[in-house]
Amino acid sequence: MSDLKKRTPTLVYLLAASHSGSTLTAMLLNAHSDICTAGELKASHLGDPSRYMCSCHSLIGKCEFWNDVSKEMAHKGLEFDITDAKTALGDGPSRYVNRLLRPLHRGKLLELVRDVFLSLSSTWRDFLPSWKQRNKALVESIGTVSGANFIVDSSKIGVRLKYLWRTNGLPIKIVRVVRDGRAVALTYMDPSGFADAKDESLRGGGSGVRVDDDESMTDAANQWLRSNQEAEAFLRTVPAESHIQIRYEDLCRDPVATIESVHEFLGIAAEGEGVLRFREFSHHVVGNGMRLDGDSRIVLDDRWREVLEERDLATFDQIAGDLNRSYGYE
Ligand SMILES: [Zn+2]
Repeated sequence: MSDLKKRTPTLVYLLAASHSGSTLTAMLLNAHSDICTAGELKASHLGDPSRYMCSCHSLIGKCEFWNDVSKEMAHKGLEFDITDAKTALGDGPSRYVNRLLRPLHRGKLLELVRDVFLSLSSTWRDFLPSWKQRNKALVESIGTVSGANFIVDSSKIGVRLKYLWRTNGLPIKIVRVVRDGRAVALTYMDPSGFADAKDESLRGGGSGVRVDDDESMTDAANQWLRSNQEAEAFLRTVPAESHIQIRYEDLCRDPVATIESVHEFLGIAAEGEGVLRFREFSHHVVGNGMRLDGDSRIVLDDRWREVLEERDLATFDQIAGDLNRSYGYE
């Protein structure tokens, strides 16, 4: 690898509610020669490592890319295994700390309160710098293995971003993805049917086994609402030029133009129609089931229009209708 690659790559953080199109965004971005997508770098919940499949369709333990990343991490003196990555905040050192980290990101004052209570914990004070160092080292290692200057993290959650944001020497750009809350709520109500790999045998991380956690519309609408409120609360604390917002529906209708707007935001040259051949580029993505599908067609999934009943729509509207409309979803 040339000396030019020595600088720390920019982390491109996808901030979104679950099932809002972040995996599709991540995979389309990966088609650019200077961007590498490796999925959710928090890498939690990968399930049984002996059955979990990388998006290259190797078992995760046999994937060359992740093995090379482990070797790079070892050069930095860090033991690393993607199936036990220790890069999530939830891998925190004590129950006290984990309890404080659980609530989603909130307004400035409550975040200050969170920081004060966390700072009381000596385990947290020891944990945070090493957690930051580990995540930064992972971004650098993926940069070295892939040769890319932009590394996408599709972890989505705001609290992780809050602490990554304060990592010295790690440049971060944020891509926020929003999607019609009614479509998202449906995926929470029936994840197998509306939010995993299309091929049933590839669901549950490629194991074919998926334990579902179906929610009521009330819970689903609240979850979508809270996730988006979290994203907005965080974005109010960072400079406007550090983030861009795209919509899942625009991504489906005009993927090239939408992804090019992200390239422009990142300051890299567009590569045109190449975006649409995103399945052909090698990728080693961990996270959402869509990464395992072979289909390159991008089809807007708006099945909610047929599936949701009147009373579900009324419930959603009561809870989250205002915010949904503010994103242009009538
Ligand atoms: Zn792989």
